[in-house]
Formats: sequence, C-alpha cells, structure tokens
Amino acid sequence: MCIFCEIIAGKVPVHKVYEDSIVLAFLDIAQVTKGHTLVIPKEHSLHMLTCEDDIMLEVMRVAKRVGQNILEMTDAKGLNVLSNVHEIAGQTVPHFHVHLIPRYDENDAINIEFKESQPQNLKALAELLYLDCLY
Ligand code: AMP
Ligand code: ZN
Repeated sequence: MCIFCEIIAGKVPVHKVYEDSIVLAFLDIAQVTKGHTLVIPKEHSLHMLTCEDDIMLEVMRVAKRVGQNILEMTDAKGLNVLSNVHEIAGQTVPHFHVHLIPRYDENDAINIEFKESQPQNLKALAELLYLDCLY
C-alpha cells in the first residue's frame, strides 16, 4: 500500500484541510511555503496521466476551491499548482497528487524558471504532437 493510500485508510495521521468521498486535501509534511497543500484522489492512481477523467475533475475542482481559500486566508499573493509525473520530474510518491504551493515573495523556497533551449522546429514538433481527437 502506498503512503497516500495509508493516509486515506487513516493509518498515517495528516492535517486535513478538506475531505469528501472522492478527494482528500492535507498539508504537505515538508512545507515548501506556509500552507503547502496536497490534493489527492482516494482511489489509487499512479499519476495524473493514469487518473480516471471523472476523478480528475473532482481533484481539480477541490484544488481550485482549496487554492482560493489559501489565497483568502493567508498573505499569499499567488500559488503554484503542480503535479509531478514520474521520478525524472520529481515524483517521489506514486499516487496522483496536486501540489498547491502558496507564494509570498521572491525569497520563497521554490524557484521555477523556464529557460530557452536549442532552437526547435516548432512546425514539425506540433505535427508530431498534434491530437486529431481526444480518444
Ligand atoms: P512529489 O515529490 O511530487 O511526489 O511529492 C510528494 C510530496 O508528499 C512531498 O512534498 C512530501 O513532502 C509529501 N509527503 C510524503 N509523505 C507525507 C506524509 N506522510 N504527510 C504529508 N505529506 C507527505
Ligand atoms: Zn496510493
């Protein structure tokens, strides 16, 4: 059983900020910034790409509402909404979760920087990645 399934089963205590029959939101044990929250589906799923669509909708619905509440109840001026897929992207817990990371100022412990890499052939890339239909 993964650590988040153990949390859902009540075997590992967490500080909950929201719960319903499908979704649980709780404070991340390693608070990157004050109020750093995880939103997870109760049904085990490896990551966001394997999560059922209807459950994903519920997770994001809760993430939206909890995110609004964080901004309302703290001094945070913004929020990073993040979900890591696979180890290479920083995923350490193999159970889909959305990070809500409140941002207070430039000295926050998180630094997300998008750097340009080699020039790419965007036309070919878009053709490669183009989806004719969703399913
Ligand atoms: P990721 O690296 O995207 O897989 O994120 C996993 C997150 O889960 C990390 O930020 C951990 O701090 C957090 N985490 C792991 N175990 C617990 C726990 N028992 N309670 C709360 N958060 C946890
Ligand atoms: Zn799990």
